[in-house]
Order: sequence, then structure tokens, then C-alpha cells
Amino acid sequence: MNKKFRVFATCDIGDAIDLLRKRGYEVEVFPEPKTPPKSLIVEKVKSGIDGLITTLRDPIDAEVFEAGKGSLKVVAQIAVGFDNINRADANRYKVPFTHTADVLTEATAEFAFFMMGSLARRLWTAEHLTRELQWGYWHPYLPFLGDEVTGKTVAVIGTGRIGLAFIKKCVGFDMNVLCYDPAYENQAFVKTIQEINDLRHARGLTKEQAWIKYVPFEEALRGADFVSVHVPLLRKEESATPTYHLFNETTLRLMKPTAFLVNTSRGPVIDESALAKALRENWIAGAALDVYEKEPLPVESPLRDPAIADRCRLMPHFASAARITRLSTDPNKGMAGRCAQGLIDVLEGSYGGDITKMPYVVNKEAFAR
Ligand code: NAD
Repeated sequence: MNKKFRVFATCDIGDAIDLLRKRGYEVEVFPEPKTPPKSLIVEKVKSGIDGLITTLRDPIDAEVFEAGKGSLKVVAQIAVGFDNINRADANRYKVPFTHTADVLTEATAEFAFFMMGSLARRLWTAEHLTRELQWGYWHPYLPFLGDEVTGKTVAVIGTGRIGLAFIKKCVGFDMNVLCYDPAYENQAFVKTIQEINDLRHARGLTKEQAWIKYVPFEEALRGADFVSVHVPLLRKEESATPTYHLFNETTLRLMKPTAFLVNTSRGPVIDESALAKALRENWIAGAALDVYEKEPLPVESPLRDPAIADRCRLMPHFASAARITRLSTDPNKGMAGRCAQGLIDVLEGSYGGDITKMPYVVNKEAFAR
């Protein structure tokens, strides 16, 4: 039996909670589906818990770490993005935090791909037509047409885990790919994809020879029929290449008027009022969003303008929302399993207690000797 670790989870993460209880942990779960108030998180941390399980909805900063001084040993986040956790504060208080990278990569990438196809082929508008008894005839171009994805050019902004997985999906649709990433250009991956493109063409699977290359940001926006965003949210003080409002009036105007924008990364990467204007004034053809500057999307959001409803798809932060991806207790398959394992690693001192060797810990720099 392990030492009875005390854990507070700000949200139910399914069977992974039982997994912790079976190890002898005392786990309290916030019983409601909505976000607990920050004051409650602070109160629970102050009560001397060893571990805190968080979602991307919980603001975790100095106030929380101060409350846990001397007792809080780990924050385990069930998400890959951790922009809600103040990394500098975690480091100052020497509290490791973990995330659930990798296990949601393919689910998020395929959702971005489906959003792109659904937007371009106007699936939402088309189904409304059928349901609202507006489908009166078959006609070559009335009441509207969509745009093909196959053979088009897509710009992938951010070629980390999800960006690369997204590119793999695009290969099957004979797409050309413009990659942009200021931190690291994965030329080995690009070479492999080009080899696959070449083989598909040589064996007669594709009529046109597809290509892939890294280009500067502006060139990616200017050349793309679709732009898919896969960056972390980085504010000005956090990076030399911040992503906050990376898409704004200036950069949106670089896109073709026929181009579509897809965002499954984080809401504040796009200036939403600029995007609403771009859609209203037809600077771009459409946008599909899964994430927003404020979540849930407020009733007064300009993105809800009925005038742009036919070209603006709005998803409820759903890209990783697939059964196995979200809830499998296997740390190699599910976010819940990986979240629990990240917590266990720190509390039970896996890897000889060396935090820098624990695979799911993000802020290893605070523990380097
Ligand atoms: P990752 O760290 O593997 O990749 C992010 C990439 O973005 C890195 O290669 C990085 O160099 C690059 N980058 C950083 N700054 C950039 C900039 N200014 N311009 C272009 N590229 C830049 O992360 P990941 O696992 O691929 O996840 C990416 C993000 O997707 C997460 O941080 C998270 O916010 C978001 N996400 C959302 C959902 C969802 O449900 N909608 C699910 C999973 C992840």
C-alpha cells in the first residue's frame, strides 16, 4: 500500500480516478461538470493535498502555488496545452506540472482535417437545406457549390506533433503542403512525405505530383487554399515568436479571398473581431474554429453574426473529444491515463525520483541539477 496521497481533481476524468483510488490514494473530485471557482482550488490546495488534477479551464498561478507551499507536489493537467498554468510561477515554487502530449495528436489532427473538409464542402449548410425542406431540385450550381480539398495547397502553421499528424492526413488527399515553424524545421519529415508523394505519383495513384516545403509565414498565407493552425498559445513575454493574435487584420489580409482558415490550437491565436470582419468583408472564404478567445463562446461574440453563419463553423473545443483519446486509462492511449500516470510518477518517485527523467513533466528546467 502506498502512502495515502491526497489528490483533488477539478474535473472527473473517468476510470483513471478509480485507478488512483485502487493504489490507495484519497481522491476528491469536483462533482460538477463546470469549472470550479479559483477560490475553491486555492482552498483545496491549502488543505494540504499532494496532487492537483487540472483541466485547461483552471488558472494555476502563484496564488495556487503559495497556498500549496510545503505540501503540493504536482499539478497534473489533462491536456497537451498548458497556457493556463503559469510556468514561471511553477518553477519559482518548484512544483512540477505534467501534460498529456502525444495521446491526443491523431484525434486532434483528424478533427482539424474533418473541419477543413466540412467547411470547404459546406456540409453544415447543405444538411440545413435538406432538413429545412429547401432542397427543391438537383441543379449544376444552385443553390451553392463547395470547394474540393483534393489536390489543393494547405499551409500548416506549427509543425509539432499535431501539425505533422495533420500533414500525414493531407497526403492521402494529394494536397501540396506549405509548412511554417519558426522554432524547428523538420526537414527529415518533409523528405519522407516527399518520397511518399513521389511514389504515389510514380505508381499512378495521383495525376499531379504533390509537393511539400517549409516557407516563411507570409509566403505560407499567400500561397494556401487552406490554412490550419497547430501552435501553442505563447504571449509576448513568453516567446520571441509569440502566437497571441498571430492572425490579425494584417495577416488575415495576406490570405487569398478564396482561402479557408482552420483553428484547433488555442482561441487567442486569432483576433476574433478581425476574423469576423474578414468573413463579413470576404477577405477570406471561410473559417472553422474549435477554440475561442473566451470559452464557452459568449452570446455576444461577433463570430455568431448570422450574416457569416454559412462560412463560419463553430465547434465546442472538441478536437480531442474521442472516447479512447479522452478516457482510456492506458497512458499510451488516453489523456486520462497519461494524466494519472504523470501524477503517479511524481508522487511515487518513478525514475529514481529524478523529475527531469519523467516523460510527462513539462517544466523539467526547474529541477535540473
Ligand atoms: P507541439 O509543441 O508539438 O507543437 C507546436 C509547434 O508550434 C512547435 O513545433 C513550435 O515550434 C511551433 N510554434 C511555436 N511558435 C510558433 C509560431 N509563432 N508560429 C508557428 N509555429 C510556432 O504541440 P502539439 O502537441 O502539436 O499541440 C499544439 C497545440 O494544439 C497545443 O499547444 C494546444 O494548445 C492545441 N491543442 C488543442 C486541442 C483541441 O482540443 N482543440 C487538442 C490538442 C492540442
